[in-house]
Amino acid sequence: MNLNWTPRVWSQGSADSGDLLSYPSLPELDSFYRELQDVFPRSVALEKAGHSVQGRPIRLLTITDQDIGDEDKQRVLMVGQEHGQERSASLALLELARWLVTPAAAGIRRWQRIGLMPVVNPDSWEDLRFNNVNDVNLYADFSLDREPTQPESRAVSEVLARMQPELFCSLHGTEFGWQYRMGESNGFSWTTSQFDRSHSRLFIEEINRAAESAGFPQDRGEEEAERILPWLPDNIHHSYYSGRRITSCVHAYHRYHTLANTMEVHHPHSGLIRCKRMLELGNQPWRTESVAGYPVRTMFQQDETFVAAYGQSAAERRASRVQLWAHSNQFVIARGVNEPVGMALSAFSLDPEDYDRWRSMEIDSFLQQRGDDMGIDLSDIRALCQRHSRFRSLRCDQIKPTAGTKEGPLLQTASRGLALRLRLPNRSTIRRVWLDGRPLPLSSSDGYESWHTAGGFTMLQVNIPPQDDVGSFQRHFVVTTYDAPRTDLGSRV
Ligand SMILES: [Zn+2]
Repeated sequence: MNLNWTPRVWSQGSADSGDLLSYPSLPELDSFYRELQDVFPRSVALEKAGHSVQGRPIRLLTITDQDIGDEDKQRVLMVGQEHGQERSASLALLELARWLVTPAAAGIRRWQRIGLMPVVNPDSWEDLRFNNVNDVNLYADFSLDREPTQPESRAVSEVLARMQPELFCSLHGTEFGWQYRMGESNGFSWTTSQFDRSHSRLFIEEINRAAESAGFPQDRGEEEAERILPWLPDNIHHSYYSGRRITSCVHAYHRYHTLANTMEVHHPHSGLIRCKRMLELGNQPWRTESVAGYPVRTMFQQDETFVAAYGQSAAERRASRVQLWAHSNQFVIARGVNEPVGMALSAFSLDPEDYDRWRSMEIDSFLQQRGDDMGIDLSDIRALCQRHSRFRSLRCDQIKPTAGTKEGPLLQTASRGLALRLRLPNRSTIRRVWLDGRPLPLSSSDGYESWHTAGGFTMLQVNIPPQDDVGSFQRHFVVTTYDAPRTDLGSRV
């Protein structure tokens, strides 16, 4: 590897000097990409991902360790300059590309595949036009049920569809760089602030802190304004200034349950620091998880029950996540009410009709019916539940599932697997676990796992592997018994 290599585009006004009014031309950018690929052919792949209205190519740089297969790699897509004059965003991604080929980023290249589209709106690069030449806001050219209308935004949506990434970042900024007075931010944009939040505030806060500790202050949105996010009708100043457009970030989340981060980047070095911090986090287990990766695995929660993606590799988890997410509007979770500590029962269904069937069903009737439907004897589990007199019926969430704008209610194709999680008191020890009345072994592929989370819970995960028999996949119930240390149940002294 040629460690002394420096891209030519910086020679006329480098980011380090603070002279951010000097930008490379589009031909200079193309030679930067080609040089990067020529010098680091085992790490960098360059392709044309689409084109602009006026036919200019939209480049996609993919950076990963090509000597290692993709099966267990996280996928990341970062796009810049959807808004034409926001070129500081592009410079941040070029800085990131420079860093990603260095030895310091070897661990990131090993475990992640990173797509960079530094210039999404090339027709507006020289003209400093916010929209594209058709006067369409490319960042907001998305909807819940249609494809984008412009070739530039379609290029983004097509790369998203191909990658189904764990992390998607849309970088915004200005042509003025750090000389511009407006603050930088993560996890929202001012024009879509209420609607375009990332689902993980804690992840975003890690990014804010990385930038701040390097001397780049970050705006916290509603935190600074001391306003709540939910829109209160007829009280416009009660909630944080907001828009409700479907942006590329909302699109990525809606389609693929991607962790999406809209970033305002006015200094490329600040953008670089924040992007590096995100990539570092992607190489670690998130606070609720047992394996490394971005926090995108959990798709539904009701009380202490979670629906999560199945899989031992990143690719398996991605396939399960995207499939389950497409059906997430139909999830039904029912859990036993008044569960005694030491025991838990949760039921899951992909059939919205089960909501009305289960919502206040007696647990004994539920078990009897499931046993009849599956043709198995559940008398041991029924006896276990009957020993706890207050443990009587099931309860569902208040929101009844609907078809929404997504796929039909039931899986039509072979399942890609499912993980059901039960969150238990801190430092619990699992005694026994049953899935659909069948005792489960410890197994990360077809059984249960458990771990203690960084936040202080014990997580039980039941792994239900992919099945061709779609019908039997639609409904499951988990029963567990466990020991919880008394000291962790809360002080009653
Ligand atoms: Zn913007």
